[in-house]
Amino acid sequence: MNAPIDYTIDKHNRITALSDSWHQFYTENGGTQPSDSFIGQDLFQSIAGKEVQMLYGTLFRHVRSTQVALTFPYCCNSDKVRRDMVMTILPQAHESLTFSNAVQSITPWGKIAEVVKPKLPAELMLCSWCNKIKADTWLEPQIAILKYGLFESMDTVKFTHGICPRCQTRILSTLTFPESAKSSTTKDNQTRSKCA
Ligand SMILES: [Zn+2]
Repeated sequence: MNAPIDYTIDKHNRITALSDSWHQFYTENGGTQPSDSFIGQDLFQSIAGKEVQMLYGTLFRHVRSTQVALTFPYCCNSDKVRRDMVMTILPQAHESLTFSNAVQSITPWGKIAEVVKPKLPAELMLCSWCNKIKADTWLEPQIAILKYGLFESMDTVKFTHGICPRCQTRILSTLTFPESAKSSTTKDNQTRSKCA
């Protein structure tokens, strides 16, 4: 259980390798398929939820473009336990990425008191254009994930979609509407931000 749980994807986000520790973790958690059957599969097929997929997509692009590894905490829970984990996304040759997952602690749910991350707002706005996330201010997703422990609290976070001021300015500046039409576009965006 102490070996990092590793897997690798190619530049098209298809799984190319799974470590023995991954397979051990998978079978310990009730998985029954042979690991071979996952090779070639799109990793996004195993990520539930549109917002979470979008956040991961942003992180992948970030690591591929900067070639700098990114480490963040997240939770991988089961019915019986809360599992605090740390994921490191490592850049590899040819835009491949390796995910190295280490278990930090395992706590049975019965032993967990009402501990809620106080700093995490109940609702976060996601800019539909640049994927920045707004709690008190607009943040790059990779920063918001660390600051708010987003992947530790995915079950409780609600996302709404909107547009950040920077994208709004940029988009409006590309339009050649007269002033009156510009202000109605702004209203549309505000309306849009209420639709989750
Ligand atoms: Zn934006």
